[in-house]
Parts: sequence; structure tokens; C-alpha cells
Amino acid sequence: MPNPCVADRAVAVVGSGPAGFYTAAALLALPDPLIRVDLYERLPTPWGLVRAGVAPDHPKIKSISAQFTRTAGHERFRWLGNVEVGIDITREELLARYDAVVYCVGSPADRVLGIPGEDLPGTAAARDFVGWYNGHPDFRALTFDLAVRRAVVIGNGNVALDVARILSTPPDRLAATDIADHALEALRGSRIDDVLVIGRRGPAQASFTTPELRELADLTGADVVVDPRQLGPIGDDEHLPHGPRHNLEVLRRYATADHASSDRRITLRFLTSPVEIRGEGHVDSIVLGRNTLIDNGDGTTQAVDTGEREVVSAGLVLRAVGYRGVPILGVPFDARAGIVPNRDGRVEGGDREYVAGWIKRGPTGIIGTNGQCAADTVRTIVADLAAQPGPSRTPDPDSIETWLRQRQPELVDLEGWAAIDAAERRAGEPLGRPRVKLSTWDELLATARTVHV
Ligand code: FAD
Ligand code: NAP
Repeated sequence: MPNPCVADRAVAVVGSGPAGFYTAAALLALPDPLIRVDLYERLPTPWGLVRAGVAPDHPKIKSISAQFTRTAGHERFRWLGNVEVGIDITREELLARYDAVVYCVGSPADRVLGIPGEDLPGTAAARDFVGWYNGHPDFRALTFDLAVRRAVVIGNGNVALDVARILSTPPDRLAATDIADHALEALRGSRIDDVLVIGRRGPAQASFTTPELRELADLTGADVVVDPRQLGPIGDDEHLPHGPRHNLEVLRRYATADHASSDRRITLRFLTSPVEIRGEGHVDSIVLGRNTLIDNGDGTTQAVDTGEREVVSAGLVLRAVGYRGVPILGVPFDARAGIVPNRDGRVEGGDREYVAGWIKRGPTGIIGTNGQCAADTVRTIVADLAAQPGPSRTPDPDSIETWLRQRQPELVDLEGWAAIDAAERRAGEPLGRPRVKLSTWDELLATARTVHV
């Protein structure tokens, strides 16, 4: 592993998703002090949700990774993969070796609904389904029964649209992407032809973004079905903010479209909540409750149960109701909000500790949102470093590597990741695919190891 050149200060960044890379880039760009950045990552692969979250049929979005790769080439940067902070090494050990530690660990868990039947086989978090089709090694062993006709997707965010789209896209189209091979094979055998997406509030409150809503029909070739009675009078749209107004335009087009074209459909239903998931040993239906919307008088709205019920048959239920942060051993954590409590990125109750990205703000915002978020945190770090006298706590990067290799003999460095990247791209090339992902821990580590033999 080549050692970065001499620097005035050393900062550890934990988590190499967008927030981690944006934080590293902002720190490296500082003219004074010159900062050396070590970016720690629990997986043998970088990029966080850009690799393991962004849908495989969105290759343009994934191309942000080229920017992260440029950051990784900086002479004062190191990437240290397959090291989980809180498990392989501790917060205290990092604080003893760096002037500051920035946690950019994202929100790796999922929110639950708290309704009966949520644990039945055939029900899962969208997080699991997304991790599975994107080849995240933690989700490789999961299986999804796709030999059913109807899937219900709970939630009205972009993740709900992603999973509805992947379930409805002809597998031959997905075959040109970097979707994990095991998922492609399972989707080839899928019998799902009816995906019902439900939102607890109305169409104007959905958090879909308009391009994603618009492409639902384009990318899947499926009919998108919307009951026009859910949309209210057109005149009401004029008072809405830009995003919801454009969503309503798209929904109105769906509501008036001719629906005889396809053998698959995606139905969008609003003011509908899941009440109970039913089945003997496997999901066979879901009880839906009808809601009405009330205005809280403070600019927010709330779904209220009308008591009306409907039972809908379903063989797969995916809840896309948001992600959730998890604590790192010893680092302050707000369990209710699922974030590390912080002020301007500085961890409240921490010691030279900072946060950026989803673990700072909660699990919302697109990739670019984390750039501004990281820049704000770096401003706080710079102010604090200016007030800390003395040289870096770690003048010698070698000692860190020696210590790390003792703690994690399977440390994956940038060369190891380059070997994984090259193997995946090589496998994809003859098939016209961007890459064929390695998706088990064993495959990933064995490939990374090839650079050291
Ligand atoms: P993450 O991307 O989750 O990165 C966190 C990193 O930290 C991970 O690599 C993780 O392995 C690592 N880590 C966690 N714990 C530890 C630890 N203890 N030690 C070391 N490393 C650790 N935005 C868009 O703009 N376009 C899209 O198309 C898009 N699609 C999305 C699809 C899905 C399914 C999801 C969930 C989000 C999507 N987003 C998209 C949003 C975008 O992915 C997020 O805004 C962004 O990834 C958040 O960045 P982050 O760095 O905070 O977290
Ligand atoms: P999200 O946008 O916050 O959507 C979560 C959805 O779940 C909301 O509709 C929410 O409804 C609903 N929900 C929450 N709790 C519920 C409950 N108990 N019962 C029923 N519904 C419930 O989150 P996300 O979809 O996970 O996306 C996370 C972030 O990643 C977003 O910022 C998103 O834009 C981004 N992302 C972007 C893309 C892209 O750009 N292509 C793709 C994927 C993700 P309420 O609004 O009523 O709370």
C-alpha cells in the first residue's frame, strides 16, 4: 500500500458512501492545514448506496463513482476496506490515532410498520430486496418467492418506485445492467404481473421525484394505473409547490392513459395504509385501511384511518417506508431519530468527532445532498482544528497500517478494490454489461487477495 505524503493533520472518515467521499474531497482540498485522510469501510467495496442502493437500470446516476475514484487517487488519501468500526477496531483506537473522526456510516437498517404479520415469509423490507438485487454481500443468501402474481409495495418514496420498477421490468432489459446475477435469474422466473404501490397520504404528499415517477412506464413497459378519482380537481394543483404539482401532472396522464397495452401493470393507490399481513406460513393477503387526510394547521398533513377495510390477495409484500441509522459502539446516538446527535456536524457529547450524510440528517436526500452536508461538516472541523494546538497525533501512516493489519489481516486496500473492480468489468465486457458483480464475501475477499500473491 503506497503511503500518503506528509501532512499537518490526519482525519479518519468512517464509511465510503457519497458522504464519506464528499467529506474526504473537501478535507483534501484545504490549502491549510494539509490534511491526510484515511477512509474506512466495512465492505470490501467502496461507494455505499451508489453501488448497493441505486437501481441497476440507472447507470448514469452510478457514474458519480468516477468522481469518487478521482478523490481516491489523491496522494494524501488512503481507502481501508473490510474494516468495521465498532467491531474490528474501536472509536477510542481511532481517536488515539487521528486529530478528528468523521462518521459517514449512512442508515443501514430499515423502519418497521409494527403491524401483525410483518414477519411472515413473503414479507420483507425494500432494503433487503434492494441489497439482494444489487449484490450486497450481506443480502446474498436471501431468497424471494417471485412465483406469485401480485406484489404490494408499501410507501410512496423513490425506493418504492425503484422496487416496483425492478419487479415489473422485462428481465431481458435488466440483463444489460449490473444487476446481481442471482437476482436476474430469479426475476427471469418471476410470475409477478401486478404490482400495487400504496401510500398512506394523498398524491400531493407523495415523496416521489417527478423524473422517477415519469419513467415508471417508460422503463418497465407496464401499464401504470391510477384511479382519476384519487387526484381531485385540476384547479387544486395550482396551489401546490413545484414537485407535487409536476407529480400530479404525471399522475393525471397515467389516469387517462389507455390500458390495454401490456400484460403487466403497476397500480398507484393513495390514502391507503397496511393494517395486517395475513397467511398460513406465507403471505397470501394484506388488509388495507382507507385513510382520510387532515390538515394539522402548521403546513403539515396527517393520514387518519376511516375504519374502512379491504382484503387484497398478495404473495409478496415489500415495505419501502424508509431506512434507519444504527449506533456505533461508544458513539452518542439518538435512538428515536436514528441519527448521531450533532450541531453543525459536530457530535454532541463527542470528542473531536463529526458526522456527515444520512447518519447526520436522517435517511433522506439524493446523492448530491450529501455534498453540501459534507462541506458544512468540514467547515466545523476546520474551525475546531484551528483551535487545537500542535502537530498531528499520527505523523507516521505506516504505524496505522501495521496496527490495522494486526486487527484485520484481510484488510482490503485500493489495490484490492481495483482487483475486484477489474474482475467485475472483465466479466461484464463480453456480455455488454458494465460489470458482473461479485456478491459473496468469499468471492470479494478472494479476488482482493490476488494482488498480494
Ligand atoms: P451510504 O451511501 O449508505 O454509505 C455509508 C457507507 O458506510 C457504506 O458504504 C457502509 O458500508 C459504510 N459503513 C456503515 N457502517 C460502517 C462501520 N461501522 N464501519 C465502516 N464502514 C461503515 N440518490 C440519488 O441521487 N439517485 C438515486 O438513484 C438514488 N437511489 C437510491 C436507491 C436506494 C435504494 C436508496 C436507499 C437511496 C438512493 N439514493 C439515491 C440516495 C443516496 O443513495 C443517499 O443519499 C446516499 O447514499 C447517502 O450517503 P451516505 O454516505 O450517508 O450513506
Ligand atoms: P422517503 O422518500 O422518505 O419515503 C418513505 C415513504 O414511506 C413515504 O411515502 C412515507 O409516507 C412512507 N411511510 C413511512 N412510514 C410509514 C408507515 N408507518 N406506514 C406507511 N407509510 C409509511 O424514503 P425512501 O423512499 O426510503 O428514500 C430515501 C431517500 O433516497 C429519499 O430522499 C429518496 O429521494 C432517495 N432516493 C432517490 C432515488 C432517485 O433519485 N432515483 C431513488 C431512491 C431513493 P409519509 O410521507 O406519509 O411519511
